[in-house]
Order: sequence, then structure tokens, then C-alpha cells
Amino acid sequence: MNYATIKNCDIANGPGVRVSLFVSGCTHRCPGCFNEVAWDFNYGEPFTQDTIDYLLQLLRPDYIQGITLLGGEPFEPQNQEAVVELLRQVKKTYPKKSVWAFSGYLFEKDILSGRIGNTEEFLSYLDVLVDGPFIEAKKNLSLRFRGSENQRLIDVPASLQKGETVLWQDWQGERKEMK
Ligand code: SF4
Repeated sequence: MNYATIKNCDIANGPGVRVSLFVSGCTHRCPGCFNEVAWDFNYGEPFTQDTIDYLLQLLRPDYIQGITLLGGEPFEPQNQEAVVELLRQVKKTYPKKSVWAFSGYLFEKDILSGRIGNTEEFLSYLDVLVDGPFIEAKKNLSLRFRGSENQRLIDVPASLQKGETVLWQDWQGERKEMK
């Protein structure tokens, strides 16, 4: 896998201050995509153990709430192995830090169904999945953590436990705290 960008202080892609990894490669090709250069699987730098070590170092400060994976497409079958190895090491080192991922695939139809491979271990590390492609006609700039109204914030542990899709609710609590 290659990666396009690493952000060490991201406040736009999940709650709190986060480290973000933008992987390379995406086959969805959504019109209006915010990161078209990362459609190419060869774009950017090779993702290696040194990259993982660097990310683990960036995640160390207490003020970093967790890591967010986006792209490109972290769930592309050819990206999953490298992403899962990263998450294995992140969860081993920082079990309390949260993990968010953005995907153009749909949670039930593509990911849970096994259509894009066995994603069981990947999902076991996720707190929130933002799913679905970016749809320009449904673009809404007032949405938090997503670009278009079709995209959902999914509470992955609750969904796996209940056997049905549960939307992530915490941000409403966060809003109350902000008042
Ligand atoms: S899924 Fe994301 S990265 Fe891929 S084309 Fe759509 S908006 Fe761009």
C-alpha cells in the first residue's frame, strides 16, 4: 500500500485532536471527490513499518484522541492487509485511543457481506465507520465529519453486538457539552 498524507493534528475527521492517515487508491471515483490524486494506488509514499512507527509516535501525546483512516479508500481489498497491521499495532500500544475510518463502501452491502473480502479483524478495531460514497447532489457543508447527506456515522461495536446498524450518537452529547 502507498499513502498520500499524514496529518498530526486533525480536528476535522472525528472527535478531538486526531492523527489522520490518507491511504492511496480508490476505485469509487466520486464526482467532486476532495482528494482525486489519491485515486491512484501508486500515488504518494510506500507504507512501511517505519510509517507505522512514525504514526505510533504521533499518537503518543495524551491530547491525541485517536487515529482516523481515510483516503483514498482504506477498505480497498489491496489496502486492507496494511491497514489491519497498522490497527493491530495501534490497539496494542494505545488500547484506549479511538479508531475512525471513512469508506466509500456501504457497511451492510459491501463490508459485512464479505463482498470486498474478510473485514472481520478490521471492523474489530473500529469505533466509528463513516460509510458511503460522496454524492455531490447530496453535498451539505453543515454536516459534521461527512460531506454528503447519504453518508452515515456508524457505531461499529454496537452494530456488531446488536446484529443491526446502529448510528453513532455521541456527537449530540458533545454538542451539549459545547453549549
Ligand atoms: S470514496 Fe472518498 S476518496 Fe474515493 S472517490 Fe469517493 S470521495 Fe474520493
